[in-house]
Amino acid sequence: MRHMKTRTEISLDDKWNVEALYPSIDSWEKDFNQSKWQNLGTFRGRLAENPAVMAEFLKDYFQIEQGLSKLFTYAHLRHDEDVAEETPRQAFMRALKQLHLFREEMAWVEPEILQMPQEKISMFLAAKELAPYRVHLEKILRLKPHTLSPAEEELVASAGMALGASQRAFGAFNNADIKFPAALDAQGNKHDVTHGTYLSLIRNPDRTLRKNAFESLSRTFASYENTLCELIHGQIQSHLFNAKAHKFSSCLEAALFPFNIDPAVYKNLIKTVRDNLTAVHRYMEVRKTAMGLSELHMYDLHVPIVQDVDFSVDYTEAEKYVIAGVAPLGKEYQQRLESGLKRDRWVDRFENARKRSGAYSSGCYGSMPYILMNYHGKFHDMMTLSHEAGHSMHSLLSWSTQPYHYADYPIFVAEVASTFHEEMLLRHLMSEVKDPKMKAFLINQQIEDMRNTFFRQTMFAEFELKVHSLVEQGVALTPGLLKQEYHKLNQDYFGPHVVIDSEIDIEWARIPHFYYNFYVYQYATGIAAAHALVDIVEKEGPKNYLAFLSSGGSAFPLDLLRKAGVDMTKSSAITTLIGKFRELAENLHRSLQK
Ligand SMILES: [Zn+2]
Repeated sequence: MRHMKTRTEISLDDKWNVEALYPSIDSWEKDFNQSKWQNLGTFRGRLAENPAVMAEFLKDYFQIEQGLSKLFTYAHLRHDEDVAEETPRQAFMRALKQLHLFREEMAWVEPEILQMPQEKISMFLAAKELAPYRVHLEKILRLKPHTLSPAEEELVASAGMALGASQRAFGAFNNADIKFPAALDAQGNKHDVTHGTYLSLIRNPDRTLRKNAFESLSRTFASYENTLCELIHGQIQSHLFNAKAHKFSSCLEAALFPFNIDPAVYKNLIKTVRDNLTAVHRYMEVRKTAMGLSELHMYDLHVPIVQDVDFSVDYTEAEKYVIAGVAPLGKEYQQRLESGLKRDRWVDRFENARKRSGAYSSGCYGSMPYILMNYHGKFHDMMTLSHEAGHSMHSLLSWSTQPYHYADYPIFVAEVASTFHEEMLLRHLMSEVKDPKMKAFLINQQIEDMRNTFFRQTMFAEFELKVHSLVEQGVALTPGLLKQEYHKLNQDYFGPHVVIDSEIDIEWARIPHFYYNFYVYQYATGIAAAHALVDIVEKEGPKNYLAFLSSGGSAFPLDLLRKAGVDMTKSSAITTLIGKFRELAENLHRSLQK
């Protein structure tokens, strides 16, 4: 057994510089005890008095919120270092509770602003005192036609817990209750099937094992199909309730409206992908030929086509690649990233006992970005570092350019900078690598990335839209209907070279994202936008892209992207990405023929 290091055994250079936020938990404690917001209550009922009062309130409000977010950030970082450590855990729970309390006690603010008569609002929006907050107010005010009287809003809010029951039940079922039978490999050895092991099982070169794991997972979910159908049905009904209560014409419109995203963007994504599904079909044909199979099944789709390539890369080397990859963004960007990774200790690099798993980029306004890694020296670890560093640079540039209340970027653009980084790194590696097998490995990585992030998520988005419209039309969802719809989608998306095994029909039942309310399409639009932006940077230089990274949430997401040079209301970013996918599939095919 390999000895797992404890936190204290990890050298300081490999740990993030959390002391830059607070030198110790005692100083955090002192700050925590001093944080209060009673004076904000004195503004209640006074916001509409005049623009100066509202401006004064907003200034104080954001200052307090910024302090709370700093307290929270430190506590969550310390907690993730060692989740069993009692003091940071307590701090984390207390900071979380305090944030909730703040939100709860400030719940009167938006209704009070929304109650102002239209002429007064127009006057406020034109006032110079409120100029720094104009976009913030516009974001609140666009909800006015969809806001009910305070008493009605209170009633709707009080149903929130009940309306969330399906989602919570699914979470409890999926994370705790459901168990899968072990899967046998070709030698008859048993392998545990869990959510954690499934991904590596379905990618295993042993076909018997893949098939058995696929069947173990699918058939177990299918044995609960009635319950799972009711859960998803309940979730969609809660979306429909909210949409109707707030006078939206559809669930889709209700979900996209707050971000000022036209439902046409969503529908256009689906239509454009549908018109180009032959790209996926061709890739499936290439995969089938490359794997030498007479039948390509659903359990053959995730295994790497190019096997036996060992792309190991130690941390320092990965850092070098990631930094070299961003060269097209200019010296200054590259130097900021380099000093962040190498000297300023943004990154908590390696695993230690009881450290939180996975990876993320965090931090708060005024701090450095913090990156949690569990680096193990594999190719995908390097890609993860590059991805998280993309988020970090986006945060850093927005934090250092925008005022606090515009510093956070909207979810719609959140995965753009991270995907951008990954794509730059892949292009850099492609230009460095000489070995044809390694090149084929990289192309395969790139194609699989696009298939999973772009095509698969669009298929999910289409399913989501379909089942919502069925419920909107009053159709009662049954397991049979859902399975039939899902089967049809798989047939359309994967095409004639894949056997659509009936076990896949239940896949909808295990996707947590179907409980998120029209979320997944943003993965697809995000990767399309990112690729378009990489092309723009290579052709025209990084000026507009850097401006986008510095713009945080100072405008609505489609406008932020438009300024960088991509218009997501049009199809061109999507068709370009699909064109690249086609090209990569042919490249892969050719390189495997050699
Ligand atoms: Zn990400």
